[in-house]
Amino acid sequence: MDEETRKALRTLPSVEELVSHPAAAGLLEHHPRSLVVDAVRAALEAARKTIMAAGAGAAGSGAPAQGGTAQAPAPAGAAAVTPEALLTQAAGLLESWSQPGLRRVANLSGVIIHTNLGRSPLAQRAIDRVVEVSRGYSNLEYDLEAGERGSREIHVDALLARITGAEAAFAVNNNAGAVLLLLMALASGREVLVSRGQLVEIGGSFRLPDIMRAGGVRLVEVGTTNRTRIGDYEAAIGPDTALLLRVHTSNYRILGFTEEVELSDMVELGHSRGLPVADDLGSGALESLDVFHGEPSVAASLRTGVDVVCFSGDKLLGGPQAGILAGRKEVIGRLRKHPVARALRLDKMTLAALEATLELYRDPELARREVPTLRCLNRTPDETAALAAQLQAAIERRCTDGFILEVDESIARAGGGSMPLMELPSHAVRIRFPEPPLPGGTPDRASSPTVSALDIELRRAPLPVVARVSQDSLHLDVMALDERDVEAVAESVAWAVARLVAAPDR
Ligand SMILES: *Cc1c(COP(=O)(O)O)cnc(C)c1O
Repeated sequence: MDEETRKALRTLPSVEELVSHPAAAGLLEHHPRSLVVDAVRAALEAARKTIMAAGAGAAGSGAPAQGGTAQAPAPAGAAAVTPEALLTQAAGLLESWSQPGLRRVANLSGVIIHTNLGRSPLAQRAIDRVVEVSRGYSNLEYDLEAGERGSREIHVDALLARITGAEAAFAVNNNAGAVLLLLMALASGREVLVSRGQLVEIGGSFRLPDIMRAGGVRLVEVGTTNRTRIGDYEAAIGPDTALLLRVHTSNYRILGFTEEVELSDMVELGHSRGLPVADDLGSGALESLDVFHGEPSVAASLRTGVDVVCFSGDKLLGGPQAGILAGRKEVIGRLRKHPVARALRLDKMTLAALEATLELYRDPELARREVPTLRCLNRTPDETAALAAQLQAAIERRCTDGFILEVDESIARAGGGSMPLMELPSHAVRIRFPEPPLPGGTPDRASSPTVSALDIELRRAPLPVVARVSQDSLHLDVMALDERDVEAVAESVAWAVARLVAAPDR
């Protein structure tokens, strides 16, 4: 370390000096002292690293500091390291620390059931029920008639059975859990036949072969990737076979020279050999709604006589995260009694939301109107055009300088492994920037922000906005946008643009 660096480091104030500095008074008013001390330490650490990096001749802004949950951006250079500058940094850290980790965002990606964004927003009725039931005590496991211990399943099972048309039904934590439970309950230590064309991976963490291994069952792959015939299943059945499983290839399709076995043929074969047949539908469209072009419906699957089907509560159903099992009474009873069912059980908030969501399905018209996921899937191009125009106008009321705003046609997707190839005609507000100035031209601050910089700032906005970046523009697809968020999204756009204009090379 050279003398210059040592000198610069010595000019840094101490933690104590900073905390007792007049400029720290405001911070201490709003945050506990120990947090202010942590933030000041992080800011000092970042400054120290910057000075040392500059001293070591490292080019640029230096190594980022590890300052707690958020990193303190390094100050520009030793000259900037005044107590005031350090306290400003600390204030920024305190603000970021006081934000919740899990936050609401606006989905303008054009993917309706977006797994990374929490899949399905809940219907108002479900939200109200969650609040009501979780605010105080509830009859979660208490039979109010008998005045004694009751069952938590009773609240949704009958409703589920009625809506799916199954003899019996049962809900667990998620569909991966439902698959695991049915494998363990029906085939533990034995063989399960699955077509090679159906060995899916969903969202990077649900891989069918891994779930099988975890469930202690042996996977027997049947047929080939593109073609599987009933004879392949027949040939694969042996003394150790316990179950035939069909898996919906949620997020992909095999096109071209293909052949798949009908579920009804699998059921006929399985039952003629005394074997149960299960169907993992993934999304599970309810047949009473006709919007799910080509998605296999729960009722159609059950009509084949399959023993059990399972599907997610937060995909096409538009409810809370859950895994729903529906089928023959005897089989559902076995699942319910399995020890793992206890580990996968639903909590009261989910049960409340699921019951309220299912109630809406007693009247399909009501479900279409009230379940946000269904409402978005049913949006017509006229509706998305009007919503996009509304968003465009709301943005224009706040800021117009420096970028080009237009409404464009767009393609939205259902997401959540539903209808992967289906393109939903939609509209987007498209944000473009004028061509950057030619080399040697006058630098124009407003024209330098890039699309990806805007995308980054939008995700940092008070209401973070997740948009779609294309080469030269940012698309705000309104297919999954809640009408009530139009003004807030416009506010976030104005906020992000202001940040870009203030610091175009950020
Ligand atoms: C989505 C999906 C799952 C996993 O469901 P989660 O509710 O996310 O646990 C399992 N199988 C299929 C076919 C799916 O599409």
